[in-house]
Amino acid sequence: MTASPSPAPASLADAVALLEAHDEVVLACHVNPDGDALGSMLALGLALRDRGTRVLASWGSRPFEVPSPYRDLPGLDLLVPADQVPPAPALLVTFDTGSVDRLGALGDRVAAAGDVLVIDHHASNTCFGTLNLVDVTAASTASMVVDLLDALGLPLTRDVAACVYTGLVTDTGSFKYVATTPDVHRLAARLLETGIRHDLISREIWDTASYGYVKALGLACARSVLEPDEVGGLGLVWTAVGVEDLERYGLVLADVEGVIDVLRTAREAEVAVVVKTDPEDGLLKVSTRSKGRVDVGSVCVSLGGGGHRFAAGFTSYEPLGQTMERVRAALSDVPHLPA
Ligand code: 5GP
Ligand code: MN
Repeated sequence: MTASPSPAPASLADAVALLEAHDEVVLACHVNPDGDALGSMLALGLALRDRGTRVLASWGSRPFEVPSPYRDLPGLDLLVPADQVPPAPALLVTFDTGSVDRLGALGDRVAAAGDVLVIDHHASNTCFGTLNLVDVTAASTASMVVDLLDALGLPLTRDVAACVYTGLVTDTGSFKYVATTPDVHRLAARLLETGIRHDLISREIWDTASYGYVKALGLACARSVLEPDEVGGLGLVWTAVGVEDLERYGLVLADVEGVIDVLRTAREAEVAVVVKTDPEDGLLKVSTRSKGRVDVGSVCVSLGGGGHRFAAGFTSYEPLGQTMERVRAALSDVPHLPA
């Protein structure tokens, strides 16, 4: 059977029925996974395995290496490289993935799968599943997994909670972003009650890096450019991280994820952009952030990517100069939201 996408929104009950009908499931998250992609996928994977389901989990980009902040997560033994994922799974579940292209090398499993359950919170989600659990108000995909576990009647074990907390803390920027509602804090309390070492999880994500990264961060910030007239006068700050930077400091692409979090603190710029060259394919991975006056999600959709309103990205097939020209042009057209 081939999956035929239906954009109809799914209910938790639909997703429960689908998961209960399968004793084998393949899980996939987006390429170059972050804490929410990995955390949400491993959380559901562990809970399903605990109740007897055969589970494989993967992602479709190289290197197939768990980024360093997530190397202590429970459930890493569920992971298999993309080339070991069956070509036509009966049930494929995707996490934190807004569109098929974000599955990279696993994108072809969508059309080949019997059923595809999409679990995601991206505004740009294209509802490519046979069942689409998409909640753009959810703070993280990991929080959506907890709702699903509750509906399935599966326990929130300490290991599952550690994975969920990783997703939640990543996507709320440590409970700072606007999606951090009272329910988010209630969920965090529930997770902490399982006895997880939230301090160690957060330290790995926010407060630990190699000295090489510290040097590369300094370099990337020192060479950044502030363009106050861009974004219709709201200001743009941007920088680039090249393959030579990664090589010089012994880093992989995942290690420089945090550069944008420092660059975006510049008060003079509404929008921050970091352009990273992926050593695996030579393409430019563009990260954008705004402070709330500009919907960079829609800007990135117009540039072939996606994301959230104030945090989004796209992949560019053009050199840096042309890529930045396209970014400036797209940002100069965008409406300004009220302050
Ligand atoms: P980051 O800049 O941290 O890589 O990603 C920020 C947000 O934009 C995340 O939600 C991520 O999923 C999304 N995003 C980043 N790059 C791409 C891309 O190339 N395509 C799409 N569709 N979304 C992206
Ligand atoms: Mn997410």
